[in-house]
Order: sequence, then C-alpha cells, then structure tokens
Amino acid sequence: MPELVILGSGTGVPSLRRGAPGLLLFSGNSRILIDSGSGALRNMLKVGVTYRDIDLLLYTHIHPDHTADLVPILFACKYGDLPREKELICAGGPGFRRHFDKMRNLYGSWIEPHTYHLRIKEISSKPLLFGEMKILSEPMAHLPESVGYRIEWRDGKSLVISGDTDYCENIVNLASEADLLVLECSFPDEKKVDGHLTPSLAGRIARESRCKRLLLTHLYPICDQYDILNQCRQVYPGEAILGEDLMGVKI
Ligand SMILES: [Zn+2]
Ligand SMILES: [Zn+2]
Repeated sequence: MPELVILGSGTGVPSLRRGAPGLLLFSGNSRILIDSGSGALRNMLKVGVTYRDIDLLLYTHIHPDHTADLVPILFACKYGDLPREKELICAGGPGFRRHFDKMRNLYGSWIEPHTYHLRIKEISSKPLLFGEMKILSEPMAHLPESVGYRIEWRDGKSLVISGDTDYCENIVNLASEADLLVLECSFPDEKKVDGHLTPSLAGRIARESRCKRLLLTHLYPICDQYDILNQCRQVYPGEAILGEDLMGVKI
C-alpha cells in the first residue's frame, strides 16, 4: 500500500514545529519526493531515505520554500560519501526546464551528474508514466506556472496534491473522488491571502471533489493559533487530517 510521509508541514517562514514543504511518497520500490523545501533532504534521513534512493523529484512550482533543497540534493548526489548511480528524473510544470538551466548556469559542474543519468522533464497535458503510476497535472491558481498533481495507480487508487493554490475549478476537477487529497492550507479563515487557501476553502474543495480523505499542510505559523480542523469541518463532513512533520498517511 503506498504511503505518503510529510517531511515538512510548514512554509518558507521558519517554525520550530513545521519544516518547509516536502512530501515523500513510498510506492513499491519507488521513492518520489514532491517539492523539497529547506530541510527536506535531512528529514528524509529520519524515515531512512537518502539522496541516492529518490527515483523521481516532482515540483509544484519554483518558489524557494518548495525548491530550496534541489541544489543540495544534486550536490550530495555528486559529492556524497557514496555517489548516486541510478537515474534521477526531475520534473516540474511549464517553464521548469528554463529554471533548471538557470540553476545549471549558476552552479555548473558542482551539480552536473557524472555517475548517474539526470532527466529533466516538464509535465503538461501529457501524463508522466512512472512504474505503476500515471501522473497528471493541472495549472493551479498561484503562479502562472504552478501545477497540482494527480497520481493514479493501476489498482484505481489516487493521490492528489495541490501545491500552493487558491480556490479554483482545476483543483476540484483534479481531486475528483481521490483517495487522499493533500491541500495547502496557508492561513486561518480570518486571515485569507490571495493565491492561498484557508481551512473552509480547503473544506469546500474536498466536499465538491468528493475526495475520500483530506490532509492539510503548508501551514503558516499563525495557523497554530487557530483551530484549523474545526474551521475545515464546518464545511467538510469527511475525514480531515491536520498535517504534522514526519506524519505518514497510507493511501
Ligand atoms: Zn509555498
Ligand atoms: Zn508558492
């Protein structure tokens, strides 16, 4: 049974309780890292996963709180005590390749692989097939190039991850009847910010998509002063979970 582990349930604002965004998906022998904020690389070690084990890196968008550990991952793959050998796929939405090329210009040979193959991909209308999984993406209401992902397994299970987004039809459609829907929930209802969700908007998306379970993450520090789950439950009667660092959720 696939399992999702939250490496960081917070944002770019430092918090002792919540690390920067990062989700680690265990599916069979595959290890997929979705976003890698600062500290994700180190937190992976707490669940026994190293820079050598990741098969696929998926990015929802290139804001630094979601991508800060990409360069350290590639640097470790090259200069770690054991060099990486298996292929690494690194994928994002439209424009990801351009972003990667800029990084490559900046860091040059320090991040250029020589013991493994690195494939850079942009996922758009064509799904990415990866092992038992089909990975679909849709644009989200955050940055022009932000995407959310839907991962479907051959046995019918599905996982949907919004990345950062405001309320939009795309996330409702992408999350349709998902077994697990992971939504960002940046601010409490009283402190709504454009381009982000609140607990009641997350609840509305969960209700409209008829997902089976909802997991809230990407919580700014102010969220910890409010009853986020209660705000969400006013709108969504299904099972809602408040994310915490290193929490594992089976799919
Ligand atoms: Zn963010
Ligand atoms: Zn963002």
